[in-house]
Amino acid sequence: MDLAFIPPAKPIIGDEERAAVDAVLATGQVAQGPQVAAFEQEFGDQLVDGRACVAVNSGTSGLHLGLLAAGVGPGDEVIVPSFTFAATANSVALTGATPVFVDIEPTFFCLDPVAVEAAITERTKAIMPVHLFGHPADMTALGEVAARHDVMLFEDAAQAHGATWNGASVGSFGSFAMFSLYPTKNMTSGEGGMVSCADDELVRRVKLLRNQGMERQYANEVIGLNNRMTDIHAAIGRVQLTKVGAWTETRRANAAFLDAHLEGVVTPAVADAATHVYHQYTIRVAEDRDEVVRRLREEFQVGSGVYYPIPNHRLESLTRFAPGLDLPETERAAAEVLSLPVHPSLDQSDLDRIVEAVNVVVKAGA
Ligand SMILES: *Cc1c(COP(=O)(O)O)cnc(C)c1O
Repeated sequence: MDLAFIPPAKPIIGDEERAAVDAVLATGQVAQGPQVAAFEQEFGDQLVDGRACVAVNSGTSGLHLGLLAAGVGPGDEVIVPSFTFAATANSVALTGATPVFVDIEPTFFCLDPVAVEAAITERTKAIMPVHLFGHPADMTALGEVAARHDVMLFEDAAQAHGATWNGASVGSFGSFAMFSLYPTKNMTSGEGGMVSCADDELVRRVKLLRNQGMERQYANEVIGLNNRMTDIHAAIGRVQLTKVGAWTETRRANAAFLDAHLEGVVTPAVADAATHVYHQYTIRVAEDRDEVVRRLREEFQVGSGVYYPIPNHRLESLTRFAPGLDLPETERAAAEVLSLPVHPSLDQSDLDRIVEAVNVVVKAGA
């Protein structure tokens, strides 16, 4: 049997994206300009319930600038999950503030609001949940904790374009939120990030920080960076924005098929208040997860991913912020999770093969 490898993720970039890039190149204006402004407007209208958005050159830059704009800095603590990509805590540490790692709840893999409340100190400036795998964190409970303790709420929505909580879009809850536009995310601009902001002052400060602290040229008001998005990338992102809704529906349909046919594994749960956009379709495998990964690839040509094998608080780069910390649900998730392909390029024979592969390998007690 000579099967084509099913990749765990597959960016879809087509003729319209190429034409849009060509059109920008033909104008000769490639740096931040009208394409970026249009992309910001369209992204906010379509995905963040009309919130003002600021485009930057990566998701990580978006978190960094959002935190700086919100006034986070040395002496402050920001509560974050450890079960996430390191960019979440990196961006906090880069401001000079301290990332405080808190455990997840085991059902949806997102910050546990009870554990968050227990971790609040007089230095806590904000709580920054991650809508991991495309499932929203519990924004009702986290919002209540933030209000009770008078701390800010931010959102790492890097993986959750279009997800909702109680009918409101993720990215519309926090003082700011960040969406990543990296190629493997639910939509891409090549590289890029979008920051949604709760008020005009935050918009102004993120814009200043992305452009060397300048609103007027050479009248620098604050110390800033060059984290601008180019019009080339914005042109790609604008085309992707017209497609992401249909892609999300396909992700959901793929997830529903996997839910209905997988056996012997814990499939992803969806909270009553949530719509899930399945950036990843993440199952738990009780025994010998890494052997399952190997057999899926070698015997069935099915790619899969482990997000994330090492919790942030145990990474060499970040462990200094968490000496001796024990986060049992984070550890268990890191040992058990396995993300199967769910991306919109899968066809029915791919889905059938993924189901067969998992059911055979897990039943065999890999
Ligand atoms: C991808 C990602 C980021 C960083 O986004 P980049 O665009 O790669 O800089 C941050 N947080 C999470 C949870 C991510 O998945």
